[in-house]
Amino acid sequence: MPDLLIRGLSHSATACLMLLLTACADAPAQPLATAADSPVVVSSAAPVIAPTASAPEQLLSFSEWRILLRSDAIAAGIDADLFDRTFADITLDPKVIAADSSQPEFTRPIWEYIDGAVSVSRVAQGRVLKAQYRPTLKAIRSAYEVDHEVLIAIWGMESNYGSNIGSNNVIRSLATLAYDGRRQVFWRTQLLAALQILQAGDNPNKTLLGSWAGAMGQTQFMPTTFNEHAVDFDGDGRRDLWNSAPDALASAAHYLHKSGWQNGQPWGMEVSLPANFDYAQADPEVRRSLQEWQNLGVTPLRQTRADAQSQASLFLPAGHRGPAFLLLNNFRTILRYNNSTAYALAIGLLCDALDGNPGVQAEWPRDDRQLGRSERVELQERLTGKGYDAGAADGIIGANTRKAVRAYQLKLGLPADGYPSHSLLEQLRQP
Ligand code: CA
Repeated sequence: MPDLLIRGLSHSATACLMLLLTACADAPAQPLATAADSPVVVSSAAPVIAPTASAPEQLLSFSEWRILLRSDAIAAGIDADLFDRTFADITLDPKVIAADSSQPEFTRPIWEYIDGAVSVSRVAQGRVLKAQYRPTLKAIRSAYEVDHEVLIAIWGMESNYGSNIGSNNVIRSLATLAYDGRRQVFWRTQLLAALQILQAGDNPNKTLLGSWAGAMGQTQFMPTTFNEHAVDFDGDGRRDLWNSAPDALASAAHYLHKSGWQNGQPWGMEVSLPANFDYAQADPEVRRSLQEWQNLGVTPLRQTRADAQSQASLFLPAGHRGPAFLLLNNFRTILRYNNSTAYALAIGLLCDALDGNPGVQAEWPRDDRQLGRSERVELQERLTGKGYDAGAADGIIGANTRKAVRAYQLKLGLPADGYPSHSLLEQLRQP
């Protein structure tokens, strides 16, 4: 009987019910975009895909599912002919299913990611484009109060300045994820939004092209974000993020403006730390004004225009052996674009480089071997086993794991930076 009941519901209700049974609390904050070269590291990850419960059991065939989708789409205002034309050749995409369920054992260390993201060629090309688009960028700044550099940096990171916007049929990708993926409600919402974009005629082509996860155009907007924030800035009547750089840059500016961007303020800055520094201060939850940090001996490596009363948190992306940064409000705004600290740091450093400033001054600990996913799980299990509650052993280094690592480091008399190093795992393996 429950089976019949579920079959009688619209699919969105079905999916919601299934998610309630599995992972509803896990529903993602909506990502704006997925970077072309996807960020790494310990942070919470760029696209939507944290490794969670496996996909709920699919009760409907794809063609049955499509019939229900069609009725929901028509109810949401999508023209029936447009739906039928669009879905005429749509099949499930096995590549998308594989990408959605992949849980790579190894990720690149943050320094390798930054090296690639802020490469000499990307900086050089960005400087040329910043000069070339100056009139457009000035007009965008007048409209949305967002600095030139961050828009160029996002453009460079998301699509290598429009040269890599993705070649997947977004409707096919989103249909695959909405039918077969985790978080089906999220993907279904994106799919309906993509159909609305097709119906609005923003895309001059017949097919919406984008990343395997449905991010579109030169600034890689997800469909719901597109509908809310994309703008027609070149005045041709279309929000054409695929072909119009002014539309793409202004749309990114509109999104950053709505997300609290403070024009003229830096994202953050590299700092030096005093001897015998209390590394427990390097926690996203510890926020002080720049002046208070300076009073603690935390010293910016160069002058910026930041207000001394701005609130900042201290960030050690590679632990106490690597560079240290103070992060300001605009860093958090970049995280609204793509919720990965590695991504946001790369954007910030690219902004600095586009502005003619030097790169990271401190050495990265390049000899430090990164923990693989199974080692991170082992670290969490061993910490919890020793009485330091690291939360769920999911291989994701979140607040609970950092706290447990710090407590264990303190017990060993090590710098309590909360960084899950290989040597710490070796220590934990001692009986
Ligand atoms: Ca336009």
